[in-house]
Formats: sequence, structure tokens, C-alpha cells
Amino acid sequence: MREGLPDEAGGGNQGGFLFLRPGRPFLATDGLSLCRLPAEAYLTLMTVHFPFQNSYAALPDSFFARVAPTPVAAPRLIKLNRPLALQLGLDPDLLETPEGTEILAGKTVPAGADPIAMAYAGHQFGHFVPQLGDGRAVLLGEVIDKDGVRRDIQLKGSGPTPFSRRGDGRAALGPVLREYVVSEAMFALGIPTTRSLAAVVTGEHVLRETALPGAVLTRVAASHIRVGTFQYFAVRRDTEAVRALADHVIARHYPELAGIERPYHALLGFVVARQADLIARWLLVGFIHGVMNTDNTSISGETIDYGPCAFMDAYDPAQVFSSIDEMGRYAYGNQPRIALWNLTRLAECLLPLFSDDQEKGIAEAQEILGEFSEKFSAAYQAGLRSKVGLFTQRDGDEALIQDLLDAMAKNGADFTLTFRKLSGLAADVSADDARALFTDPAAFDQWAARWRQRSAAEPQAPSERQALMRSVNPAFIPRNHRIEAVIQSAMTNDDYAPFEELVKVLAKPFEDQPEYAAYQAPPKPEERVCQTFCGT
Ligand code: AMP
Ligand code: MG
Repeated sequence: MREGLPDEAGGGNQGGFLFLRPGRPFLATDGLSLCRLPAEAYLTLMTVHFPFQNSYAALPDSFFARVAPTPVAAPRLIKLNRPLALQLGLDPDLLETPEGTEILAGKTVPAGADPIAMAYAGHQFGHFVPQLGDGRAVLLGEVIDKDGVRRDIQLKGSGPTPFSRRGDGRAALGPVLREYVVSEAMFALGIPTTRSLAAVVTGEHVLRETALPGAVLTRVAASHIRVGTFQYFAVRRDTEAVRALADHVIARHYPELAGIERPYHALLGFVVARQADLIARWLLVGFIHGVMNTDNTSISGETIDYGPCAFMDAYDPAQVFSSIDEMGRYAYGNQPRIALWNLTRLAECLLPLFSDDQEKGIAEAQEILGEFSEKFSAAYQAGLRSKVGLFTQRDGDEALIQDLLDAMAKNGADFTLTFRKLSGLAADVSADDARALFTDPAAFDQWAARWRQRSAAEPQAPSERQALMRSVNPAFIPRNHRIEAVIQSAMTNDDYAPFEELVKVLAKPFEDQPEYAAYQAPPKPEERVCQTFCGT
């Protein structure tokens, strides 16, 4: 049975779960007498208990619709993220029981939950939709994690809500596995992101182009508040709701702003700063979100809503993954510009809180938005310098690095491998596997000669340079062809071993893991996945 829990009294509330054990004494409800449980009572009394708080559900009624998840036929747990469960103060052993699985599938609502679908609006591919909202997700509640951070626990794919419009409220297995793999890989890469606590199959089919196995993802986020959440109230000219939402966001994500002179200006500034940092981090690992709509832009600065996202193989700043992004709006290299566009929509929502004088408010907002480019560039350039192993900043560095990127684009060089192999070259001048990634290896040689000269101007030892580079240049990213293979294996053979292995490899992206070297390889031409489709 369960090992290692310090529970000398035989009962207690550890890790967010009430647990009682047979044979051991526990305090009766009068708080005084000690009782003993018979062994057969153990299973029935061991109850999954989330220590939920429901601060969002305490906001005005217009912020959400109360709706429970819709029970499913035959839930089966595919994956539980045990380390994350522990981080959230939840007991992974209990979550893996049939009762835990029913909760993670939305078949049972745990005590203390106050399930809601959140209201939001959003610009989708530039077109405003005044009402979107959680059409296939419910927020069960919030828990405070081991670091004292409040985390939403949301079921995605849990059935229709008042915001479902024409959708069925469900998710298919493929997108659920994709979100699990990519979000956890992003976490391991050190990039702010929502996380995945669990994936279950529902035992039901969802109808897309064909009938597909249904699944539910348990998503964990610092919050699910989006730019589109502000837009929902702003378009209704409900300034008091915008203010209540802003106050909630400040209390939750930016508590240092409470009580300062211009909190809403500062709030916009903080969101701008976090988005600038986030997008820089995306670019530095070759990540393409794919659907950077305002409803998919988190106020907390986490990456959210992994739909048709992907990591680049060969470096190409114009690369797009979404099948419906014909204009390249959300292409890799366009992501900073789009983030600023989305932040401008947030600023518009906050204007009534800035000043009664609209002109003055606009000028102030523009000044804050104006900080985005500088903040993004600083983070991006600093990240690039680390990727090529530079400890200092000099005139000419930006051009030097841009020349490498240009050569990569021209020569079809793999983004991730180029930087990882370059890390090897930092300590071993005879290594020649980076140049082999370029269709014209001489293009790399010419650049590498300049890079060596620049590096030599710094006092750090080659081993130090290499250590820096290896800590920022991953060996393993969730390559699209690997994700597709994992999904195929799950769907056609009910075989989750490839999924498990991929998740395991991606948990340590900066380690060489020689036994899994094949996972570093870009796709062969016949394996290449050019587009991913919306995660519906
Ligand atoms: P997404 O593309 O997943 O970011 O979703 C955009 C909007 O469509 C959100 O309001 C979702 O809740 C809603 N939506 C997506 N898929 C479904 C579905 N299968 N059923 C109901 N609503 C959905
Ligand atoms: Mg979305």
C-alpha cells in the first residue's frame, strides 16, 4: 500500500487528500477520542479531496456560467503527471484510483469544486467575436501549490457549456496528447506555460472529419484569464466589470501593484513585459504557437491553448503551421508583432480605467505599449548571445548572429541541431557535425571563423562556453513527426508506450541521453508534417 507518508496518527490531510488507514488510530469527529478503522473500510473511506478555493467563481455572475462537466461512458486514465500532482499538493496514488480517474474525466465532481465555464471574447485571425468563452472546458477550482502559487485546475474536453455555440464540447485524443507533450516539453525548457496534470480517454467517440476517440485533458494554469476576457466586458461597455477583473488579476498575478498610484497602467506594463519575455523565449527554441488570437493570449504570461502549434525543424522565419493561416499572420517571425497587436487590444480595454480624458489615456497606453519592442529585443538578443556562447555584448554581435540565422535559412539548417552542434564546437574545434547541417557547409565555415574570433575576445575557457551553450540549446524538442507517430500509435493500436517514451525524453531536453539520440533527428522527407490542424 502507500509508502512514505508521515502519518503517525493514522489519518490526516496530507497533500490535499484526506486519507485514513486501517488498523491505525485516528481522531474521531469529537476531536478527542481515538478510533480504529477495520481494514475493509479502507478503500471506501479513502477519498480524493482537492483543497479547492474558488476565487474566480466568487466574481460577479456575468464572468462565467456555472456548469458541471458532462459524465462520460467509460473513462480510462492514460497519463497522470505524478510530479505535478505532488507540486499541487495532490496525492498521485489516489488520483490513479478509479475514483480519481472519474474526477479527471469529469464523471464525478469532487467536493469543494465550483465548476464554471469562463466568459471571454476574442479576435480570431484579426476578426472580433464578442462571445467565445469556455465552450469545452470547465474550471473545477483553484489550489495553492507547494510554492504558494494559486493554480487553476481545468478539465478541457469535458462537455458542452453555454459557450459551446455549435461545438460538441469535446476534445479528440490526438490534440489532447499533443497538448500534453508540448506543454510539458515547454515546461522542461523553462518557458512559462500551462501544464498538463492528466489525460484520460472517455470511452466515447467525437465526430470530426471521422469518428475519433474522445479524451479529456486536465490543464493547470496560473490562471485562464486572457486578453479576450477583458475584451468580453470592454465590448459590453461594462467598465465596472473591467475594473473588477483588473483588480482580480492584480491580486492574483501582480500583488506588488496593489495600492500603488496608477495600478492599471502598471498592470498593462507588467503584461507587456511578460509577453515580450515569453515571445522571445518562443523564438529562441523555434516554437510557433499557431493561433495567437487574443483569446489565446494569457494575462499571466503563460503559453496557453496548444492547438496547431509546432517547433520548427529547418530554420525558416516565414514558417506557419496552422492549416487555416493562409496569410502567415501567425508565422514564426511574425509572433512579436502579433503579440504587440494583441497587447494593444488589451490596452484598449483598460483605457476607461486610465483616465476620463480619452486622448490622455491613449497617449499613456501608447507609451507603455512602446516598451514592448525594446523589452522583446533585449530578451531575444540576450538569449541569442547565450545560444552562440557569448558572455558579453559588443557592437557587431547582433549582425554576427543574424548572419548565422540567414545562413541557416538559406541552407535549410535545422534550428535546434545547429545550436546544439555549435555547442559541441565550442570545446572541440575538430567537431564538424554543425557544418554538415548546411547544404553548403562552406557557408557555415565562413561564419564559424568569425564566431571563433569573436569568442576568443572573451576570457572564458572553452568548457565554460560550452556549458553555457548546452544549458540554453536543447538537444530534444517535441518534433512534430514524433508527436504524430505517438498519436497514430495511440489511436490505431491503443499503444501508449511511444507517448510515455517521448514525454520521458522531453523532460530532460538539455541532457544528451545517448540512448534516445534518434529523438534528436529532424524528420526524413517522408516523415515531414507540414501543417497541424485546429485542436478541436
Ligand atoms: P480554440 O481554437 O481551442 O482556442 O477555441 C476557440 C473557441 O472555440 C473557444 O471559445 C472554445 O471554447 C471553442 N471551442 C473549440 N472547440 C470546441 C468544441 N469542440 N466544442 C465547443 N466549443 C469549442
Ligand atoms: Mg482558445
